[in-house]
Amino acid sequence: MEFYLKASLKTSADPAVGKEDIEKIMAEAEKTILAKGAPEGEGAKIKSWTLGDKSIDVELTSGRYVRVHDAAMRLKKAFAESLGKTHKIGIRGVESETFTITVPADRDLKNKNIPYVKSVDFKDGNLILALEVGEAEMRNQVPDRILTLIEDKLEQGDYGAKAEHWNLLWESADRPFPYTNDPTEDMLKEGWLKRGSSRGQWIHGPVTTRLFRVFEQIVFDEILVPLGYDEMIFPKMVMWDVWKHSGHAKGIYPEIYYVCPPKTRDPEYWEDVMDYYKVTHEVPVEMLKDKIGDPIGGMCYAQCPPSWGFFQGETIATESLPVLIFDRSGTSHRYESGGIHGIERVDEFHRIELVWLGTKEQVVETTQKLHERYMHIFNDLLDLKWRKAWVTPWFMAQEGIAGVAADEVTGTTDYEAPLPYRGSEGEWLEFQNVSINGEKYPNGFNVKSQSGEKLWSGCSGVGLERWTAVFLAQHGLDPENWPPEVQKRFGKMPKQVKFL
Ligand code: ATP
Ligand code: ZN
Ligand code: MG
Ligand code: MG
Ligand code: MG
Repeated sequence: MEFYLKASLKTSADPAVGKEDIEKIMAEAEKTILAKGAPEGEGAKIKSWTLGDKSIDVELTSGRYVRVHDAAMRLKKAFAESLGKTHKIGIRGVESETFTITVPADRDLKNKNIPYVKSVDFKDGNLILALEVGEAEMRNQVPDRILTLIEDKLEQGDYGAKAEHWNLLWESADRPFPYTNDPTEDMLKEGWLKRGSSRGQWIHGPVTTRLFRVFEQIVFDEILVPLGYDEMIFPKMVMWDVWKHSGHAKGIYPEIYYVCPPKTRDPEYWEDVMDYYKVTHEVPVEMLKDKIGDPIGGMCYAQCPPSWGFFQGETIATESLPVLIFDRSGTSHRYESGGIHGIERVDEFHRIELVWLGTKEQVVETTQKLHERYMHIFNDLLDLKWRKAWVTPWFMAQEGIAGVAADEVTGTTDYEAPLPYRGSEGEWLEFQNVSINGEKYPNGFNVKSQSGEKLWSGCSGVGLERWTAVFLAQHGLDPENWPPEVQKRFGKMPKQVKFL
């Protein structure tokens, strides 16, 4: 890996008068300012330099340490100090004439449309990126981010596009499953639900709605109340700013439902649209495209990120820790593409999301308690066959990264269950997860603790559609076959609307 920069340091007057000072700085720089902070011999190097009428031109090379753009800034500072003092010559700015990054690679890039990159060439086992950057970009670490991006892309290719880590932690005993239908099909036959007008959307009738509420009540009785979680209402339209802080802005574009506001609410502005509809009875979608603003964000995707605005920039009192909160105030939306199926993989779904925040010890302990409670619920109350697995942390998966976190505590545990209608070899369904997110969110949203100790956080998304899908797939639709705790809470079958 090599950085190369041909930089022109613009001077306010002919630098020739200061040639001796410049020579001195150039001669020493590799041992002093261009070596500072780098392992022995690994600082930036000066390949050549010349003086122009109003510039000092220098060719720099480097590896990972004291990268060429940092080296140019260090030289600029040194020249400004020395020439300013003795010759009253200022350095006006640093221009990059040629800036390349050479990265070893086993393949070319698919997308070469990268900001500030003029060209990408794949030659002799290297990607050669030619950058077009100004001083501001060099100062703002744009070349470093480009290198990270390229290295991430190359590494990801090794895993295959979406391969997630998966490691079994626990599994319940085998059991027979007398019911092997697809419950969504049976529910449709029973009139429990109907398809909504949007893709991957259902209108839940009284029965499935009651089941959702039963599961919610179980979460209240077994977890939220005894463990002391307080309810909050998290926003359901999420602005780019939130996703920049949470990291989602790196990768969720293919899966979000975008939100665009009208350019104005002046009815006159919309009159042609209204008239068009009234005459044709068609909504003029093309006309709308011109009249709505740019997307300001998207519909709730992961529920917890927008809660962080509540804590952003704050220092939390020791007595308030751990913070234990939850939200169940609205839907989540994902464009699931071809994957939608039944009620279990939908574009609009309902979750309770638990979020906890505290010191590392508090977060680990809270997570432990939660796992215990869930174990009790799925074994004793819902009587499910299920398993737990250690997987790629959800926040990494949602940023498009594979693998696992660097430490062994941070990460996601998926709860999965077999759907008997898929057969004994069928894929298991993730019905919820529990994550320790480490310092990611407190760092991302700048949240501190009174004690100064680093804050950690965790979250758990209880998918009500997924619980229902798993429960009905394993127990069937007849309440008489349901475990007593669920029967008791469900009560009498709700009255259904009869259609003739
Ligand atoms: P999957 O692997 O099934 O696609 P996910 O890993 O993308 O799920 P997460 O981002 O971890 O899902 O979301 C947390 C929880 O939200 C899931 O465990 C699941 O219960 C629920 N969930 C996610 N996507 C959907 C969906 N499309 N339909 C219904 N529930 C969902
Ligand atoms: Zn979350
Ligand atoms: Mg998914
Ligand atoms: Mg998941
Ligand atoms: Mg998953």
